[in-house]
Amino acid sequence: MEGAQLKTEVLVLGGGPGGYTAAFRAADLGKQVTLVERYPVLGGVCLNVGCIPSKALLHVAAVLNEAKELSAAGIGFAEPDIDLEKLRSWKNNIASQLTTGLAALAKQRNVTVVKGVGRFISDTQVVVEDGDDSQTIEFKQAIIAVGSQPVKISSFPNDDPRLMNSTDALNVESIPQKLLIIGGGIIGLEMATVYNALGSKITVVEMQDQIIPGCDKDLVRPLMQRIKKQYDNIFLETQVKSIEALPEGLKVSFDRAIPDDQDKNVPEIDLFDKVLVAVGRRPNGHLIDVDKAGVNVDQRGFIRVDKQQRTNVKHIFAIGDVTGNPMLAHKATHEGKIAAEVIAGMATEWRALTIPSVAYTDPEIAWMGVTKLLSDKQTGRILGAGVVGTHAGELIAEAVLALEMGAGAEDLALTVHAHPTLSETLGFSAEMLEGTITDLFVRKR
Ligand code: NAD
Repeated sequence: MEGAQLKTEVLVLGGGPGGYTAAFRAADLGKQVTLVERYPVLGGVCLNVGCIPSKALLHVAAVLNEAKELSAAGIGFAEPDIDLEKLRSWKNNIASQLTTGLAALAKQRNVTVVKGVGRFISDTQVVVEDGDDSQTIEFKQAIIAVGSQPVKISSFPNDDPRLMNSTDALNVESIPQKLLIIGGGIIGLEMATVYNALGSKITVVEMQDQIIPGCDKDLVRPLMQRIKKQYDNIFLETQVKSIEALPEGLKVSFDRAIPDDQDKNVPEIDLFDKVLVAVGRRPNGHLIDVDKAGVNVDQRGFIRVDKQQRTNVKHIFAIGDVTGNPMLAHKATHEGKIAAEVIAGMATEWRALTIPSVAYTDPEIAWMGVTKLLSDKQTGRILGAGVVGTHAGELIAEAVLALEMGAGAEDLALTVHAHPTLSETLGFSAEMLEGTITDLFVRKR
C-alpha cells in the first residue's frame, strides 16, 4: 500500500545511540527532524541487545562473584537460586525503561519517529517499509546511522539455536554446562564473565596470540591470569575448523590459526552444549541502497566520511559503526552531535584527541591514547593511560579529560584526590611519573 509522502528537513536513518543523539541535537538546533527506525523502540543495538542488557547481566555476575569472595571475610551464602525467566524480565525491564524514556524525549522535541526499514531511492528520498506498508520520505539533509551486525561464519550450523550470537547470548535462554566462545574480544570476554558467574564451564578460542588483541599486553595480563584459573580452556592462535550439530551437543574441531606453526598443539575435538560466535561486527552500509543516493560504500560496507561526518555527497552525512572502527556507542553519539551541528550551520568538526575503550570484564580494563600512564618527556603532557581493576571504566575518565585539556602528570599529581578512593590511584600513578610518590618506595635510578 502506497502511504502518504512525508517531507522533512533532516532525515536520520537508524535510531541507535548515534541516530537518536543526532536527531535530538538537530531538533534542539531548530531543525525539523524525522527519525526512521526498523524496530518498534529506539535505542538500537546498545540499548536493546548490547551495552545496556550486557551491563545489567554483568552487574548480576559481579554480585554473584562478590558474594562468593566474601567467604574470605567469614561470610557464607547458600548457592544461588537462579530463576532465568525473572532474570530475563528484570534485564528487559531495564532496557525498556530507557527506550520508553527515549520515545518521550523524541516527543518532547517534536521529532517524528517512523517505524520501518528505510532505503535510499535517490539523493533526496528514502522509502520506508513496514510489513505491507511503505512510504516515501523526502529530505533536504540525511544522516545515515545504520550501525553494524554480528559477523556470521557461513560454514557453521547457523540455524541451530545452540549456536548463538551476542543477541542470543544476552537472552540467556539457558545456562549451558559447557560453553565455547569463539572470539576472545570484548563481547566474547564480557559474555564469558556473565556465563561463568552463572555456572557455565567456559572455553575461549581466539585466533590471535592474546585475548582482546587491540589492547596493551600488560593491561590484558591480570585478566588473563584470573580467567586462566576460572575457565576450562583459553586457546590462543587457534581457530575452529568445524562445528557439527549432534543431538547430544555441538561437536567442535579446532585448528592452528597459523597452519604451518607445527609447534602449536591443536586442541582435541570436544562437545559443547552451546557455542557463542563473537568474532566481530560488520557495518550495515550495503543494506540501504546508498548507491542510489550516490554515496560511496566500500566493499566491507563502511561509508567514509570527513571530519564533519559528510559523505562524498555533500548533504548526506554518516555516523557511528557504519563509518568505521572503533564500533563504540560513545564514538557514535559524539559523531551524531557533530553531524547535527554541521547541518545546523555550526563550524563543528571532530576534534576529540582520544576515544576511551572499556572491557567490562572481571577485572575491568580501560584504556585510551598510548597506554600505561605515559607523559611526553619534553612537555610533560599526558599521552595515554590504561587502568585494570574495579571501576577502571570510571577511572579512565579523569585521564581522558587530562589528555583533552593538555594537562601533564604534574597537574594530576597536584590535584587533591579524596582518600580513600579508587580515583586517588590515578594521582599516585602521576606521582610515580613525577617521582613524588610516598605511598610506594621507588628506588632512584
Ligand atoms: P572484536 O573485534 O572486539 O573481537 C573479536 C575477536 O575475535 C578478536 O579478538 C579476533 O581476533 C577474534 N576472531 C576473529 N575471527 C575469529 C575466528 N574465526 N576464530 C577465533 N577468533 C576469531 O569484536 P566483538 O567482541 O565481537 O565486538 C564487536 C564490536 O562491539 C567491537 O567493536 C567492540 O569494541 C564493540 N563492543 C564494545 C563493548 C564495550 O565497549 N564494552 C562491548 C561489546 C562490544
